[in-house]
Amino acid sequence: MPVDDARRPSDLRARLIATILRDGPIPVDRFMVACLSDPNEGYWQRPATIGARGDFITAPEISQVFGELIGLWCAVTWGLMGTPAPMRLIELGPGKGTLMADMQRTLAKAAPRLHAATQVHFVETSTPMREAQASAVAQLSAFPPIWHAALAEVDDGPSFVIANEFIDALPIRQFVFDGQAWRERLVGCTGAGELAFTLGPVRTDFQIGPARAGDVLELRPAQDDVLAQLAARTGPTMALFIDYGPAAHAFGDTLQAMRHHAYADVLAAPGTCDLTAHVQFASLAQTARSLGLAVDGPMTQAEFLGGLGLAVRTSRLMAANPRDAAAIELAAQRLVAPSGMGTLFKVLCVRTQGLPVPPPFG
Ligand code: SAH
Repeated sequence: MPVDDARRPSDLRARLIATILRDGPIPVDRFMVACLSDPNEGYWQRPATIGARGDFITAPEISQVFGELIGLWCAVTWGLMGTPAPMRLIELGPGKGTLMADMQRTLAKAAPRLHAATQVHFVETSTPMREAQASAVAQLSAFPPIWHAALAEVDDGPSFVIANEFIDALPIRQFVFDGQAWRERLVGCTGAGELAFTLGPVRTDFQIGPARAGDVLELRPAQDDVLAQLAARTGPTMALFIDYGPAAHAFGDTLQAMRHHAYADVLAAPGTCDLTAHVQFASLAQTARSLGLAVDGPMTQAEFLGGLGLAVRTSRLMAANPRDAAAIELAAQRLVAPSGMGTLFKVLCVRTQGLPVPPPFG
């Protein structure tokens, strides 16, 4: 019988409270790491998190056209790079492996030379996700995929790096401006034994502004680590970061918990909800540039998929599957909806200096 985990007494919650009572309140990123990556009760240890029956849905799970278009992007971009071989196709946080499966199917049909020259690398920390990825791409890739815990583990050489909704899952730190100074937002514990947000001491080392009382600044140190690992690669590398968040810098508390496709209380049931926060594309781009990488975009997901031929691809798929035509069209529209994913999601290309600007950025 399924257990309602939200009501099951959580050892993780008890351990967090014990730690806080012993050592004091903890930063938000430490709380997120515990909730998402605890080896026993972390959210990413759960078997069914993504999809209609899980907690949230992502673009590759909505429409196969998403992965097909990114596969075609690789094919065209590989040509612009001078068709280097072997090629590494590295995916960060690949979830159920659906995006890679759709890409591989497309490459096998539309770009067999690239397909034959491609080694798939998955950067994934979750065991259930690794299992899902293995079955999703079985028989589809030219060589058996290789799994890694971090991008730095992937051997050097010409590479594509694809990250869809990966950065949003990396932990953030939050700082609140109280009108005079910045203070870190921490997770503490009330007298009644409940987890609650609190503020740390004034940060005299922070000179960020102009800011108004109540503004929240979110920093994501793990994002800088990923970019540093990308910059350290010596072979020509083309990376696509697809995620949700603003193009220009914005203050705000964007930490959110999702459970069964609805917003949940971030602190209520640690380890049972997906925790994410907006990706600040301006800082992603700025850090990449400061590390010597070239950056294109960000552009909206609607512009990106539209520029790669979403309409043509979708109508072909509809013609080949007339019975499912309405559902196929609806799914594709959802990816580019002006008041939804189409504009909330952005795409940033980060590449080795000197490589040509890839479509549809150029
Ligand atoms: N890209 C997928 C899944 C997004 S969910 C999709 O579009 O459907 C985030 C994914 O990142 C999950 O697979 C999760 O297990 C993985 N993940 C989260 N933190 C990670 C980390 N620090 N290193 C590697 N993978 C991570």
